[in-house]
Amino acid sequence: MIFRTTNTRTPRPALRKVRTTPTPRPLRHRLDPARVEEIPFRTTDGVRLGLTRIDTGDRAPAHDRPAVLLLHGHTASADMFLLPETRNLVDSLLDEGYEPWLLDWRGSCRLPYNETGRRYTYDDVALYDIPEAVAHIRTRIGDRPLFAVAHCIGSLTLSLSMTAGLVPGLAGVVSQGVFLTPKLAGRTSLRMSLAGELLKSRIDHIPVDFRKVGLWSKYTPLFALASRKATCPDPTCQILHNSAWGTGASLFVHEHLTETTHDRLAELLGPAPLWILPHLRRIELARTVVRWHDTDHRYRTLPQNALDAAARIDAPVLLLAGSENGLWLDSQRLCRDVLAHRQPQLDVTYTEIPGYGHLDTFLGRGAALDVFGHILGFLGERR
Ligand SMILES: [Zn+2]
Repeated sequence: MIFRTTNTRTPRPALRKVRTTPTPRPLRHRLDPARVEEIPFRTTDGVRLGLTRIDTGDRAPAHDRPAVLLLHGHTASADMFLLPETRNLVDSLLDEGYEPWLLDWRGSCRLPYNETGRRYTYDDVALYDIPEAVAHIRTRIGDRPLFAVAHCIGSLTLSLSMTAGLVPGLAGVVSQGVFLTPKLAGRTSLRMSLAGELLKSRIDHIPVDFRKVGLWSKYTPLFALASRKATCPDPTCQILHNSAWGTGASLFVHEHLTETTHDRLAELLGPAPLWILPHLRRIELARTVVRWHDTDHRYRTLPQNALDAAARIDAPVLLLAGSENGLWLDSQRLCRDVLAHRQPQLDVTYTEIPGYGHLDTFLGRGAALDVFGHILGFLGERR
């Protein structure tokens, strides 16, 4: 019998409490709770996700409220667009008469799947989570325009959905950090492969909350590595700011965060699963978004190579990036250049935010002033 497995190991005792419920952790916001509509839904492959609609109140007549889908990065959550401690993107969108819709896709830290539950690849996000969320929103908004603002892996997977033709007719897409041409810092990609190989035998995810894992644990060497040359004494900040879950990249410009946001990092960014690394590694080596599943027919809708299928993009795209992005470097500028050469008919623009890193384009204390204006300007011209 080929598939017979023999379990020779004795099961390990549970060392820590992990969340296994698929009900999303409550959102943190300062909106009137009556305006926050939480819509749990189950994808056709059986994964429970969270969609949240923010009611605009009476700020704009119903027929004149374009909807905006917000997609967080991997291990972040819808919380990244709702920070109570700063003027956040949802505030800015509401003031301009947009109806924000926030998706917690399966990589959200409000959901349990990064730590427990069924493993997934970015194919699943592109095939199920994003198109099915978009379909759900469309049933509610009718023929009102629908935009998308997507960060990091949320944007990378959106590019795969778009080039598969699974989310046609978006009014416009704002992509932050990375889109069709992922390019990681050299030491990041090296560490990513080394960390993956060395660590996957012992642990399956990289935690960010030092308080939960304790001072002496199997994760101690990771935190020790991250603390090298760190200027901030906070271990969670070190593993994110100084090391990006052990990859050696930097996720934000430190002084752009308020003290409150800095203290909430372990809540805003959850543990990173190591089992996603093979797909990320394949994407990084290809320098474009490629699907993971080669033989499983369920994924044949997705292009093998999203860049080669870029002609299917039917929405204007704004590529945004901080000039100091320490994770994806100048991937967005590269994307603009490559698309200008290969698909000159596409409506693609690139805007660089001087002095900004990666996550601080949304979490930063001054993001409303320095970043959101570019997003609102782009949406405003196309609404
Ligand atoms: Zn810090």
